[in-house]
Amino acid sequence: MAIYLCHQEPGLLVHDAEVVASRPGAVALSRSAFHPGGGGQVSDRGHITWSDASDASGGEADVTGIEIDGDTWWHLLDRDVEPSGTVPSGVVEVRVDGDHRHRVASLHTMSHVLNAFVFDEFAGALVTGAQINGDGTGRMDFDLPEVDNERVRALEAPVNDVIARGLAVRSVYVDAGDAEAVAGLVRSMSVAPPPTPDGLLRIIDIDGLDRQACGGTHLSNTAESPLIRITKVENKGRHNRRVRFVFAE
Ligand SMILES: [Zn+2]
Repeated sequence: MAIYLCHQEPGLLVHDAEVVASRPGAVALSRSAFHPGGGGQVSDRGHITWSDASDASGGEADVTGIEIDGDTWWHLLDRDVEPSGTVPSGVVEVRVDGDHRHRVASLHTMSHVLNAFVFDEFAGALVTGAQINGDGTGRMDFDLPEVDNERVRALEAPVNDVIARGLAVRSVYVDAGDAEAVAGLVRSMSVAPPPTPDGLLRIIDIDGLDRQACGGTHLSNTAESPLIRITKVENKGRHNRRVRFVFAE
């Protein structure tokens, strides 16, 4: 995967960009701080505003998601701005919804923490799936064939303890070939990102707790997350345990 602008500048939520292509209900931009989603994480959402050079009027639309088509990121809009009405063109102001970003990044970061405890507690059990939603709910699936579900639920306390401890979260890039040799680094069987074109893998490091390959959005410190509640642990097939979690507050 490419190194996204939102990975290089996680704090960048408002910027200008040129419209490089448009179609009914979508625009492609010269640059974008949006995270396009992937690996079970929903995309960022936000807003764009533009002016129309032909009549000095402007327009605006919510960005509801990103659709990737080759190298083009289509920013999906909540209204058909073509062919009737004004067409976004020239320079637009791009605004990423910071509350949505924070909710998703919080749940996503805490999914790493949960993953770390499951990995330790259950002899290297791997993730088989994940879904991080924008409404403050998420789930992770683990390959845990013979485990008491209450033992999984009990991990809520150590996860919340990590929030209280305020551990730093950093992203680093390592050689993908080296990374594969480190047990546990590529933790997930289904949501690990592919390397960058020059062979680097993005690693999320939670200080002293966990390192794993991931292309999503994360907090910079675990203390930024609301507390988490594990609402349910379900059996999904012979091997899978599905862990559902929400913000506790
Ligand atoms: Zn992640």
